[in-house]
Amino acid sequence: MKTAISRPYLLLTPGPLTTSCGVKEAMLHDWCTWDEDYNRLVEDVRRRLLSLPGGDMSRYTTVLMQGSGTFTVESVVGSMMPAKEGKLLVLANGAYGDRIATIARTLRIDTVVQRAKDVEIPDLTLFEQALSRDRSITHVAAVHVETTTGILNPIVAIAEIAKRHDRRLLIDSMSGFGGIGMDISGMDIDYVVSSANKCIQGVPGFGFVIAKRDELAKCEGRARSHSLDLYGQWSQMESGKGKWRFTSPTHVVHAFYQALLELEKEGGIPSREARYRNNCRIVQEGMEGLGFKPVIPRQYQSPIITAFYPPQHPGYHFPRFYQALKRRGFVIYPGKLTEAETFRIGHIGDIHAEDMHQLIKAVEESMYWTK
Ligand SMILES: *Cc1c(COP(=O)(O)O)cnc(C)c1O
Repeated sequence: MKTAISRPYLLLTPGPLTTSCGVKEAMLHDWCTWDEDYNRLVEDVRRRLLSLPGGDMSRYTTVLMQGSGTFTVESVVGSMMPAKEGKLLVLANGAYGDRIATIARTLRIDTVVQRAKDVEIPDLTLFEQALSRDRSITHVAAVHVETTTGILNPIVAIAEIAKRHDRRLLIDSMSGFGGIGMDISGMDIDYVVSSANKCIQGVPGFGFVIAKRDELAKCEGRARSHSLDLYGQWSQMESGKGKWRFTSPTHVVHAFYQALLELEKEGGIPSREARYRNNCRIVQEGMEGLGFKPVIPRQYQSPIITAFYPPQHPGYHFPRFYQALKRRGFVIYPGKLTEAETFRIGHIGDIHAEDMHQLIKAVEESMYWTK
């Protein structure tokens, strides 16, 4: 049977996103799961992931976890917190920070939230005061790129404060890892979470954790869920040399492996970051030229996704704009702000400068309310 890979539109949504033909082709087999060939592939994936951030990663290890990215965040939160005498401080300025707090509270973990506005970065003075004042806080969680708005949070400063106060640190870098350089060991972060379908440019199906080995070793018996037991998954992967505890998303893992090879071929994270930054610049300049205003001040804007305010025109209706763009080959993302209506355009995935120029043309043609 001959299969044509079709691409009816580009996904400008941060996960699932537009993938290469090679990544899609890697899934065109009924891949087996319970044998050494597959386990070796998993070990290779884990090794390559660990080499991506650079620096001395000898204290770190990786764990892959089935499910969407949120499942992996939940597995870390639910496995890293001690049963008693653990308290989590969450720095939130968007939906994904709020979600970490919701997960923790659902798991009956003692949780405090320092919430900034969606368009502002966390107040670091308040953060430091909270850690000085409340010695019962044992862990801190923060989001790297808050995909709600595309704001880039100051994780270097957050890590410096958390570590100076001797707290364990979880960074949700779901939409940042692989697309923005981050010196994980230099910042001394304990747990970094990301997933297959973001900047590595794979398809959805699992997430991964880059964690300090000695921290992970303390998590035995702490998990509040059997299937999301991070320690359980890690010890199985270590002792079984790439074996998952339960059915693994084999096709997704093969696609992810291909995506890792393509990332290396592109020149690693620095080259990918440069491409995303260029995509971002073309979109922002083009959209501002058409009269759209970005939500996030330029100095805090990440190269991952940009949120725009809708046009102030009584004839504008988002679903109609969305459909007009989709007909022209581009799928964008509705907003996720609590305070204001917005829409978002992603800059990540197998998309390039020429695609971004085409997008701006398509946006101009789709501005039905001006015609
Ligand atoms: C995508 C994303 C997640 C996970 O979302 P899922 O829908 O569960 O994959 C978590 N945090 C951030 C910052 C994200 O961008």
